[in-house]
Amino acid sequence: MASVKISIIGAGSAIFSVRLTSDICKTKGLLGSVVTLMDVDKSRLDAAYALASQYAKDMKSDIQFKKTTNLEEAISGADFVINTALVGGHDFLEKMRKIGEKHGYYRGIDTQEFNMVSDYYTMTNWNQLSFFLKIAKMMENLSPNAWLLQAANPVFEGTTLISRTSKIKMVGFCHGHYAVNDMIDALGLEKEKVDWQVAGFNHAIWLTRFLYNGKDAYPILDEWIKKHSDGTTPKTPFNDQLSPAAIDTYNFYGRMPIGDTVRNSSWKYHYDLETKKRWYGEPWGGADSEIGWKWYENRLAEITTLTSKASELLRKNEDVKLSEALSANFSIIPADFAKEIKDFYDPSTLSGEQHIPFIDAIVNDHTGRFVVNILNNGVIAGIPDNVAVEIPAIVDKSGIHPEKVEPTLPERIVKWYLNPRMIRMEWALEAFEEKNPDLIVEMLLRDRRTSSYEQAKAVVDEIFKENS
Ligand code: NAD
Repeated sequence: MASVKISIIGAGSAIFSVRLTSDICKTKGLLGSVVTLMDVDKSRLDAAYALASQYAKDMKSDIQFKKTTNLEEAISGADFVINTALVGGHDFLEKMRKIGEKHGYYRGIDTQEFNMVSDYYTMTNWNQLSFFLKIAKMMENLSPNAWLLQAANPVFEGTTLISRTSKIKMVGFCHGHYAVNDMIDALGLEKEKVDWQVAGFNHAIWLTRFLYNGKDAYPILDEWIKKHSDGTTPKTPFNDQLSPAAIDTYNFYGRMPIGDTVRNSSWKYHYDLETKKRWYGEPWGGADSEIGWKWYENRLAEITTLTSKASELLRKNEDVKLSEALSANFSIIPADFAKEIKDFYDPSTLSGEQHIPFIDAIVNDHTGRFVVNILNNGVIAGIPDNVAVEIPAIVDKSGIHPEKVEPTLPERIVKWYLNPRMIRMEWALEAFEEKNPDLIVEMLLRDRRTSSYEQAKAVVDEIFKENS
């Protein structure tokens, strides 16, 4: 048991708050730790704090939760800083998207080929990138030996930017690679007998190694594809690992795209809603269509309302347990979602997020295999050393030990998928670092939705007028 100081920035995050705070309470090796929750939104912070403290009490976990709206206070003396903040929130992203759509850019200008994920703004959310650097700078001064665990998007741009400009120890995390399990289940394989490896960039990872009982399992996938030529019917907008888009991408590149990579594909699947429906399935057309993303935003809003209502109940009644406070409000969310939330508080399982097991591995030498975002430094051939890659690694007390990528990524993926995606990242970072919207206009001139220079200039002018 080791006592460390963990700080969660943006602790009111709809997607991460419950998952991370419950994982901490369940991790025996971290009992005795102090966890500081930080957020600028006081009501979200209060709710996250109430739920976390109550869960620690119900679980009899020796974790002390603290809360603050002050970033310096949270970072000062921390051993681990987890950044989950979304500066401006989803409302800001929607506002920018609306301006883009007004000027003829379906789903907004940040929705780019190889970067179609709807809260992964690389071109217009400079506030988010500035905040990443602010945290890193503050850590250099106030907690120079701490690890920064980057959860907030864009993880690819963020990890590259921070790792290039700061000496702090950092790692980026994404839960997208777990979609490999959806595929393993659909193929009817036993997980323990599968040996898999993914490699690429965040939201741009490919199943390099896929063995079943030590033998190549790609033929099993090929057989499945032959029998299911239309892919599977999605149960949610995110259920796309074996969608026609995933299969078509696999046929073209020769390796299976995993998780968010399926969304992060070429224009081919994304022209408009009808096209998206054809490739990602009815009724949503995938997570990033106007319908699919609305579904996701509704879920985020539901969890924020649920945590707020449950925290009110806890405040009013000291004898209520967290499970009771949540169940009393489960009627306001769909039943399948209520089950998901309940599972996060199941003492026997963790949420699946990698952040807390990573801390446990570093602090207690609980060696584990993780999928991490770190600078390449030679792991993927054909990609510069100073670009963040997403790869499997063994983590223990001595740090992160990247696995050798074996077999290597096909040349087609490196040249025609990773390289164009990397150029977009470099372009966006240069625009941000120079604070130069002209570079963004230039990017838009290579965008198939642009029909004139005037159109690109007008949208960028309006966005940065609103954004400054
Ligand atoms: P959210 O808006 O629900 O939560 C973000 C939180 O950040 C809010 O509570 C907000 O008040 C807070 N915040 C905003 N500005 C802040 C500041 N200056 N200081 C401190 N806190 C601040 O968003 P969400 O949907 O939970 O997503 C959070 C982030 O996580 C996004 O960037 C999203 O893209 C990313 N994300 C990452 C993964 C992954 O696997 N890495 C998965 C899903 C979402």
